[in-house]
Amino acid sequence: MKEIKKIGVMTSGGDSPGMNAAIRSVVRTCAFYKIECAGIYRGYEGMIEGDFIDLNARSVKGIINKGGTFLKSARSKAFRTKEGRQAAYNQLKKANIDALVVIGGDGSFTGGLVFNQEFNFPVMGIPGTIDNDIAGTSHTLGYDTTLNTVVDVIDKIRDTASSHNRLFFVEVMGRDVGHIALNAGVGAGAEEILIPEEDLGLERLLESLRRSKESGKSSSIVIVAEGDKTGKNVFELKDYVEEHLPEYEVRVSVLGHMQRGGSPSCFDRVLASRMGVKAVESLLDGKSNLMVGLMNDKITVTPLERAIKGQSKINKELIRVSDIMSV
Ligand code: ATP
Repeated sequence: MKEIKKIGVMTSGGDSPGMNAAIRSVVRTCAFYKIECAGIYRGYEGMIEGDFIDLNARSVKGIINKGGTFLKSARSKAFRTKEGRQAAYNQLKKANIDALVVIGGDGSFTGGLVFNQEFNFPVMGIPGTIDNDIAGTSHTLGYDTTLNTVVDVIDKIRDTASSHNRLFFVEVMGRDVGHIALNAGVGAGAEEILIPEEDLGLERLLESLRRSKESGKSSSIVIVAEGDKTGKNVFELKDYVEEHLPEYEVRVSVLGHMQRGGSPSCFDRVLASRMGVKAVESLLDGKSNLMVGLMNDKITVTPLERAIKGQSKINKELIRVSDIMSV
């Protein structure tokens, strides 16, 4: 295997808080081991165009606390084609880049894997996505920050809910997985949590809301993941509840993109720093096609293939805890 003298780092797919901290870690680990580092702008799109910037330890000062990604992120149609990937390979060769760290989600990892298989180019992945929907790590970068953002907003919504005796449906991100809904729901003391993994049934929702009214609760918050199993979106749920429980005044809040932004939490900054070090050290050890992850507070590596194909499972204990809490 060719000796690695220069590593390229990029962010790809949806942005997440902690991506900047991960770039900083990759750049500084390269500096520590006295190898070069190049930033690749706009993910695979910038790779195809050769939109690179040489980075040294000082180039990444003052970014550990910044949300988003200063290298920008993008989705690239061209990289899905053989010609696009060939153009990307030519650009990397021209810039003397020997290996890649891809910070992104499962789509970005799939692109990296295909690229490795075609050109035998070393690739390491760092999971950067707020949904926490990647197997092989208990936490993806940005997930913890998002939980804190969502809990903070729900606390504020609760002030209004309890001042007016209202019921709020709050929609959070999570088309396929309910991690954000479940964890933020327990953290914010939600009455009910509707997630894609479990169909609790509309009757149970009504029953729970009836019970809480009878027990004297002045307000209720129901967290709904985008892809929840009831088959109704938050607005349809509002209509449904108002029809069946006219005693409730219902409001809806869709949190949307504000869940993606903001300064990363301490947890995400530490995680990003650890993951960046492991990604670079793995490449220097001759490893490739692995994703860095966190398992039982240890930094681990998982084959990219397994990270892409595996399923990230919700913690069922939390469903039980939530049930008990909403007694
Ligand atoms: P998020 O979790 O935020 O959606 P992601 O990394 O899964 O992030 P995608 O849009 O799925 O985001 O993938 C990012 C990019 O990876 C795509 O725009 C494309 O350039 C590349 N990519 C994805 N799948 C493939 C593939 N099968 N072959 C080549 N490139 C791919």
